[in-house]
Formats: sequence, structure tokens, C-alpha cells
Amino acid sequence: MDSLFFRQEHVMIRDMVRDFADTQIMPIARSLDQEERFPTELVKQMGELGLMGVMVPEEYGGSGLDMVSYSTAIIELARADASVAITMAAHNSLGTVPLLLFGNDNQKRSYLPKLASGEILGAFGLTEPEAGSDAGATKTKAVKTNNDYVVNGGKIFITNAGQAGLLSFTAQVIDGGDNIGIAAFIIPTDTPGLEIGKKEKKMGWRASDTRQIYFKDMRIPSSAMLGKPENGFKTFLKTLTSGRISIGALSVGTALGAYEKALEYSLERKAFDQPIHKFQSIGFKLADMATNIEASKLLVYHAAWLKDQGKDFNKEAAMAKLFSSETAMNVTNQAIQVHGGYGYVKDYDVERYFRDAKILEIGEGTSEIQRLIISREIIKDFQL
Ligand SMILES: Cc1cc2nc3c(=O)[nH]c(=O)nc-3n(C[C@H](O)[C@H](O)[C@H](O)COP(=O)(O)OP(=O)(O)OC[C@H]3O[C@@H](n4cnc5c(N)ncnc54)[C@H](O)[C@@H]3O)c2cc1C
Repeated sequence: MDSLFFRQEHVMIRDMVRDFADTQIMPIARSLDQEERFPTELVKQMGELGLMGVMVPEEYGGSGLDMVSYSTAIIELARADASVAITMAAHNSLGTVPLLLFGNDNQKRSYLPKLASGEILGAFGLTEPEAGSDAGATKTKAVKTNNDYVVNGGKIFITNAGQAGLLSFTAQVIDGGDNIGIAAFIIPTDTPGLEIGKKEKKMGWRASDTRQIYFKDMRIPSSAMLGKPENGFKTFLKTLTSGRISIGALSVGTALGAYEKALEYSLERKAFDQPIHKFQSIGFKLADMATNIEASKLLVYHAAWLKDQGKDFNKEAAMAKLFSSETAMNVTNQAIQVHGGYGYVKDYDVERYFRDAKILEIGEGTSEIQRLIISREIIKDFQL
């Protein structure tokens, strides 16, 4: 399958990231999870490898690679540790893409080199207590005063929030008493009036930093706005569309990591005097896992390839995210089953993959929202 979407450069990325993941991430993944420790050192190393600016053009200090390369890198990171993968993916897909898509040259020159080198981390704030799937219900307000905006409100569940140097967020813009739509802004996280809450205690992605954010009379210049006030919301929706491919890739990597552990275990573990892979029920489980992972990978690479070709990829990104995340949930569940009782204890890692998989069906648009998008797109296609 590699030949369909893969060129030599993609193979090189895969091998480079796999080597990094095997030697630097795998050995500490369990302790990062158990200690809920943010992988600061790994972020630095990923910066040095060019992984913190994968799609940032070289003129801004990035690697200038395509979406297929980026998806490959995420798969390899998540195969070792989903927390590390989401730290990198949220930084690239969510923290950096709004700036790439909608930033002006000034904003790009100020921020992109630092983001691309990993000197600062990016975060993205869309979700609010009353605005998750219904992201248009944003309550955060930015009130225009002369050349500034005064922002009040808050965001929840923000990945990288406690570690980020830059934050993109959405707010309703109020100008002269009128609500003129939801806009996107980008600000340094040391802006007075921005408060970062305590780290969330999570079921999975435990080494990733997730927090609430509060805006309290935060005064920011007009130049902090990304794009035009009236299309800020579209900005963020566009960001989410490509972000879905990265969650699809994260799902493939999570499933692959658990599958490989199950495969290995099935060769070692004996019951009734034979390795358990010889039982048809175990062999068939492994066959289903491998097949669904392969299908997920194809969906992810196809959506990524469409994006790289400049084609519409809305439906394909939603399909990739939906199918791969549900595959990750099923595969990690079956990987525990293959391990029997040992799968339920922390020494064998598959329970970590299982806990890490659940969020993939929720973040960056739940499975229900992906089905909504796909159903709308297929009806639209049919009516054309
Ligand atoms: C660990 C973690 C990291 C995250 N990182 C970020 C981040 O970096 N930035 C950010 O902005 N957000 C982030 N999020 C938020 C995440 O994107 C939202 O949690 C997600 O979009 C769902 O929103 P919600 O939690 O409000 O659920 P709700 O929208 O309240 O959904 C609850 C249930 O109702 C269903 N539902 C809602 N509307 C519909 C509908 N129209 N049709 C059918 N079913 C529907 C949902 O599918 C779900 O099952 C993160 C969340 C977590 C847990």
C-alpha cells in the first residue's frame, strides 16, 4: 500500500520517526503515563528533528513537508505513546495551522519560526463549557475599544495550555454594541488577563497537558486578530478539518502499537501446550485487527493525499477520523483480550493504549459529529 501514497521522502520520515520513537519514547512511555509527566525533553528533541514545524514552509524555519509526511510522523509517535503524539499534533494542527492559513505576513514572521523550532508550543482554544460540538455557541466576548479588544470568558479542555507560549482562540466580536461574528485571535500566553487553570486528571493522554483557560479583562491589540472578523469561525472550522486527519493518524498509531503488542504476546504465551496464536479465535482477532488498521491507514493517507493535491477532503477527513478512532477503540480492547489477565495490569502497556484510545472518538469532533458531516456530504454528492 505504501506505493500508492508514499514517495521516498515519506519512507525516510517514517524510518526516522520510528527510530526516534523506539529509542527515545517507548522506554519511558509507561512512566510518563503513570507519573502524568509532560514530555518536555521529547518536545525539545522533536523540535530538533523538525517535527514541531512539519508543514511550516522552510522560509519560516519549518520542514515544509506535506500532509502525508505529517500523518506518517503522527502514526509513528502514537505507536509508541499517544500523549507525545497529541502534544506534537495539537501544536502543529491546532496551534500552528490557523496562523499558516489565515495569519498575515507580520504574524507569520513573528511566530512561525519559534513554533517550527519547538522553542514555543502552540495551543488552540475553541471549546467552552457550553460550546463543544456546538462550537458556534461560543460565549467568550472580545469588545472593541479604539485599537484594542477587551476579552472576557474562558475555554475548557485545551491541549498544551499549561506549556504553550502561544494561544489561538475564538471569541464573539462586539463592535459599537453590535455582535459582528466569531473571530479568531492569536496571543502570547503571558498576556496580562490570561489565566491558565490546573491540569485536568484524565483517563488517557495522561502525559499531555490539558487545562481550562480564563480571560479576565484581557486587553489585546487589533493586530492579534487572525484574518477578518467576519470569517474567524470559518478559520477554526477549516483548522478542524485537517486536524481530523491528524486524529485519524493518531488512531492508526494507537491501534498499531496495541496490535503489535498483542501479536508478540500471542507468540510467547502458551496455553494447553501451544502458543495462543494457534487458537483460531486468537488468530482471527489478530486478522481483524490487522485488516482494520490497514483500512484506517488507507483512509488517513487518502484524505491526507487529497489535501496535498489541493482537492476537497472534508468528507474523507471525517471518514478517516470516524473509522480510525473506532478501530483504535476496538483494536485496543481486543489487544487486552489477547493478553488475558495480564492485559488488565499496567506491566503490559495494552491497558494504556486502551485508555488512550477513547478520547479519539471525542476530540476534534465526536463520532456523532463525523457521521453528521459524512451524511451531509453524501447527500450533497448524490444531489449533484
Ligand atoms: C483530552 C481532551 C483534549 C481536548 N483538546 C482540545 C483542544 O486542544 N482545544 C479545544 O478547543 N478543545 C479540545 N477538547 C474538546 C473536545 O474537542 C470536545 O470535548 C468535543 O468536541 C466534544 O464537545 P463536548 O465535550 O462539549 O461534548 P458535547 O458537544 O456536549 O457532546 C455530548 C454528546 O452529545 C453528542 N452530540 C452533540 N451535538 C450533537 C449533534 N448535533 N448530533 C448528534 N450528537 C450530538 C456528542 O456527539 C456527544 O456524544 C479536548 C477534549 C479533551 C477531553
